[in-house]
Amino acid sequence: MEKIKLGISTCLLGKNVRYDGGHQLNRFLTDTLGQYVKYIPLCPEVECGLSVPREPMHLEGNPESPRLITNQTRKGMTDRLVAWAHNRMTELEKEDLYGFIFKSHSPSCGMEQVKVHDQKGRWVKKGIGVFAELFMEHFPLIPVEDEERLHDPRLGDNFIARIFTMKRWREVRSKKESRGSLINFHTRHKLLILSHSPNHYRMMGNLVGRAKELPLKKVFQQYQTLLMESLQLKITPKKNANVLMHTMGYLREQLTSDRKQELLEAIDRYRKEYIPLIVPITLLNHYVRKFHQPYLKQQVYLTPHPLELLLRNHA
Ligand code: SF4
Repeated sequence: MEKIKLGISTCLLGKNVRYDGGHQLNRFLTDTLGQYVKYIPLCPEVECGLSVPREPMHLEGNPESPRLITNQTRKGMTDRLVAWAHNRMTELEKEDLYGFIFKSHSPSCGMEQVKVHDQKGRWVKKGIGVFAELFMEHFPLIPVEDEERLHDPRLGDNFIARIFTMKRWREVRSKKESRGSLINFHTRHKLLILSHSPNHYRMMGNLVGRAKELPLKKVFQQYQTLLMESLQLKITPKKNANVLMHTMGYLREQLTSDRKQELLEAIDRYRKEYIPLIVPITLLNHYVRKFHQPYLKQQVYLTPHPLELLLRNHA
């Protein structure tokens, strides 16, 4: 399997690039996810010319556009980092990244919840690291997460499912674009898209339905935008439970009333967050295989990423 290209804050790979000469190795990212991913490491502070070790920095000023300032000597580092980032962004466009994993809380790499200080050193609000903000502005549809949020089972499941979906989509686009390949992709991703946004699923369905009337390139472009937008919307237990009920509908002929009852109870317990998603999903996958349900067999929602990642065991 061709590996998925992800940008990553270099220190998460165990490289000694932090201000104190240390690293922030994350074993899940290197040992588990790393089996499926090719990382493009990037340390904004080192790549913009700062040394290791170096004076630590913080964000200061207006939380909407804070400045990057060194802690003791109070040197401004924003202009230097921004100038470097603008060039680097152009290079990153060529990398065709599927996503980016940032180091949390860093004044350069943090994608949210980064402390912003006032001039007296008190932190007044939370903001976004300088590089992370530029990256997200430049690549608004590319999935991003930080390593801390990835520990949240739902956010982790969501992020990984998005990058695997991007991979499948790019595989479709790498071949000759046709209405048939679009319909096939849309069909296989129906339940997954529904779990993010029934509204987007409707819009995408309309677009696929009008594919014959419009230039194919335009249809693929619009579909891609809607796909990326839909995947940005969070999955919740309620949305998932609705999709699980919908999935169960395809098996109503085959399931006995006992089995239906068991499945309904599992979905309800999941909706109330007493049990993880893997429980109703495993039951459904069992019935899909047992009764050879062809439509559900092709639904990526039931296995959106390799089971070895164990992401749904706690989601
Ligand atoms: S958080 Fe970002 S800037 Fe800081 S050491 Fe890690 S990669 Fe470099």
